[in-house]
Amino acid sequence: MKYLSTRGHSPALSFSDVLLGGLAPDGGLYLPEKYPQFDDADLTAIREMNYRDLAFAILSRLIADSDIPADDLRGIINKTYTAEVYGFTRKDQNAEDITPTVKLEDDLYLLSLSNGPTLAFKDMAMQLLGNLFEYVLDKKGETTNILGATSGDTGPAAEYAMRGKKGVSVFMLSPHEKMSRFQTAQMFSLQDDNIHNIAVKGVFDDCQDMVKAVSNDAAFKAKYKIGAVNSINWGRIVAQVIYYFKGYFAVTESNEQKVDFTVPSGNFGNVCAGHIARMMGLPIDKLVVATNENDVLDEFFKTGIYRPRGSANTFHTSSPSMDISKASNFERFIYDLLDQNGDKVRDLWSGVDQGGAFNVKTLMTKVRGFGLVSGSSNHEARMQTIRATNAKYGVIIDTHTADGLKVALEHREKGTPMVVLETALAAKFEDALVEALGDVPPRPESLNGIEDFPQKFTVMEASAQNIKGFIAKAID
Ligand SMILES: *Cc1c(COP(=O)(O)O)cnc(C)c1O
Repeated sequence: MKYLSTRGHSPALSFSDVLLGGLAPDGGLYLPEKYPQFDDADLTAIREMNYRDLAFAILSRLIADSDIPADDLRGIINKTYTAEVYGFTRKDQNAEDITPTVKLEDDLYLLSLSNGPTLAFKDMAMQLLGNLFEYVLDKKGETTNILGATSGDTGPAAEYAMRGKKGVSVFMLSPHEKMSRFQTAQMFSLQDDNIHNIAVKGVFDDCQDMVKAVSNDAAFKAKYKIGAVNSINWGRIVAQVIYYFKGYFAVTESNEQKVDFTVPSGNFGNVCAGHIARMMGLPIDKLVVATNENDVLDEFFKTGIYRPRGSANTFHTSSPSMDISKASNFERFIYDLLDQNGDKVRDLWSGVDQGGAFNVKTLMTKVRGFGLVSGSSNHEARMQTIRATNAKYGVIIDTHTADGLKVALEHREKGTPMVVLETALAAKFEDALVEALGDVPPRPESLNGIEDFPQKFTVMEASAQNIKGFIAKAID
């Protein structure tokens, strides 16, 4: 199994090489040269599997044995997806399920993806990435320094996944005093030597600009082996494919049944994994893309026009992890929409990369053929959905999941199970939950008082020179 760039002009690479690299040299994103296919017999064979066996059945079709031998892959998976790592389950759930479903009513479910250490679905992929990185780096005799910027969920997930990992250091930039106290505490309370928290005097975009400036300095990047774990990383997407299979099997009894999924979306990473699961043969009917007030993706799936917006036109909302106006993984879907024609993708993105838009209105029938539809939510609807879900089912959901559920209800079809992906636990967004329900949401016991734990971080003025100096000093 080799991987190809969506822009068609980069060498074919193995999974390991794609894992450690970021963008392809031609600016594209990597995808498998061919999606492995699960036919009816294959689906039946894996239907009853536990999460680890299912993960192996899927990943072993996407990773060549000559790249990561099957026994090694099994070992990596078995230490990643354990009830200990994903143990923040509700009382009536079995942690061994890793991604248990919550039945709200007939044909309406939540898929719990937030039982990992940082209480957001990003742990599902990031924990696997941490173990894969350690393995691949060791095998190649290399090290990496991960440089990232976070506004809240990615940073904690990356740090909890990489803490203590051999050959990996993390330098995570976050806007000084702009994250919630809980999110700040999640990161800054980590005392591991290989984790470096940098609080930048500025906003999230300043952090991102610093990362970009470092990435554009090829000499520095090479000398200090700068790496990334952002949402375009193929390893993250591939890990997310697994739980669509798990969710499908949990709510069906035969492969004849189809299921709809609704996905709270920002960078199009999570829903892209659903699209890939469908391309691999999973009987998904609809994939519903749910956005918040930042509705670039909703606009696309309604009109065929993709019009990314700048950071000045991005709203700050109460579902902040979806405050994204340029969906970095969207290119992967468009590549499939254009029948894997890298030159066509390159044409479209030559405009996008310069702040432009594109229009594929004539292909909307084909988009529907891929099952994709959309909707958007807003603050009022979010609050209302959190209240209604608690009143009707006694289930407390977070603001992002609420956006998903709100949009899911607009797309339900009689007789087709609708599964809403739960992307974070309510405890992460305490202020919004207090506004909705008048009460502080429940928090896993081990995280009580996390805001008062000792913190390790460095405050820095926003400049690329500063972060380069910091990295050089930490490593040399
Ligand atoms: C990251 C995130 C999202 C958006 O996921 P994408 O893969 O970027 O579409 C949604 N909800 C939460 C809670 C997140 O952390």
